[in-house]
Amino acid sequence: MEEIKEIIELLDSPTSEDITLLERAAAYAQKKHQGQKRFSGEEYFNHCLATAKNLALVKMGATTVAAGLLHDVIEDTDTTAEEIKKEFGEEIWFLVDGVSKLGELRYHGAERYNQSLRKLFVATAKDIRVLIIKLCDRWHNIVTLDFVSEKKRLRIAKETLEIYAPLAHRLGIYRLQRSLEDGAFKYVYPEDYERAKKLLQEKSHEQEKQLNKLQKEVRRELENNNIKDFEISYRVKSLYSFYKKLKKHHDRAEDIYDVLALRIKLNEIDDCYHALGIIHERWQIVDKRTKDYVALPKANGYRSLHTTIYDDERNIIEMQIRTFLMDREAEYGRASHLLYKKRETSGDAELDYIQSVAVKNKIDRPEWVGQLLKYQEENGMLDSLIKRDVLTEQIFVFTPRGDVVELPAGASVIDFAFRIHTEIGARLVGAEVNGKFVGIDTELKHGDKVKVQTQKNARPTTKWLEHCKTAEARTRVRRELGLAIKRV
Ligand code: MN
Repeated sequence: MEEIKEIIELLDSPTSEDITLLERAAAYAQKKHQGQKRFSGEEYFNHCLATAKNLALVKMGATTVAAGLLHDVIEDTDTTAEEIKKEFGEEIWFLVDGVSKLGELRYHGAERYNQSLRKLFVATAKDIRVLIIKLCDRWHNIVTLDFVSEKKRLRIAKETLEIYAPLAHRLGIYRLQRSLEDGAFKYVYPEDYERAKKLLQEKSHEQEKQLNKLQKEVRRELENNNIKDFEISYRVKSLYSFYKKLKKHHDRAEDIYDVLALRIKLNEIDDCYHALGIIHERWQIVDKRTKDYVALPKANGYRSLHTTIYDDERNIIEMQIRTFLMDREAEYGRASHLLYKKRETSGDAELDYIQSVAVKNKIDRPEWVGQLLKYQEENGMLDSLIKRDVLTEQIFVFTPRGDVVELPAGASVIDFAFRIHTEIGARLVGAEVNGKFVGIDTELKHGDKVKVQTQKNARPTTKWLEHCKTAEARTRVRRELGLAIKRV
């Protein structure tokens, strides 16, 4: 099969077992999806191949790519769990099953529920690879959106911008974030898309000449200062991030200086600071635009030195200086590095460096993505971390229309009602949980579907305070009680 060869070529030094695995998985998926068609009319199996290719493009390993080929066989064919386990083993089964469990998100577009939805998604995924497969699946779905109904198209595009792309961002997989955002952008804001596209083309065309010239000069400066082993290129800002910046700058494209940025990649961290020093000595820097994300990485793990200078014609140009490893991590996420490289590779010293910097800057509790990656690195696979961090402390319950509400474990119907709206909390008289009538002091469980009942004249009593788990509900009950006293 030609297509699978193309995918195998994208892998980092695959073993002969890896190659056999992928060929087997592809043949299996093709047979299982035989006769099924996509909305576009093409073979369903093409979607499996495309998802697998996307995974290979973001530098996932053979196991994850194989799971990508198989990701729809449980949901869309008669394949059983036993078959997958027997053919491909427990690990691939775990991934395929994980993706199937994620199923469809209950997305309705209300921003106040979106953060909870993202968290629920992560908690359900259990393994970072499951999440990445789902994102790569969506990446292909978003490029084939023209073939689905208009209503569904808009929902999927919005969901991609608000739920999936932010997850890709938090995982630090820029390649994925950019593909999802730029793919969805044109459906969600078609007019802005066309306008931004035109402006970006104009801007980058204009900057390209400046950058070509500067690139040669930077090369000469570095070489004259004995830096030998480096690469210089430039990157074009993604369309959606250009658009976001355009909005921030009230549509003044002339205020956006980083449409193109010069990118210098070097071997060691020391080389990066050395190069930065050389550049700052040679060119005048633009005030307040030098950022050291190496000493203080962004929350998603992004590391690079950024600076902005005036070239000899007084054009303002941004530069990004980083090691080859940082560049790979920025594009494909820490996951690609931590999950698939052994600790004895050259990245090791850098990992220790990240740790020491984190300690120095008192980042004692890294973002959950950082924890997730660290845990996976130590244990090979994630199991209880998310449960411990999220599901034993947080529960996710649903409104009647399926919006997600995140509450601390032990929360009651009262907490839920106040989370929905102050007035709803204050007028609460009862609730239906999973279709059964319950008292308002009922403790909620993960996955409950809650429908509250209110009455215009209902008022909280002091007894309610015993059943408030959230500070928010407690404060509001107290306020209502206080108001009641005043009214008397
Ligand atoms: Mn799919």
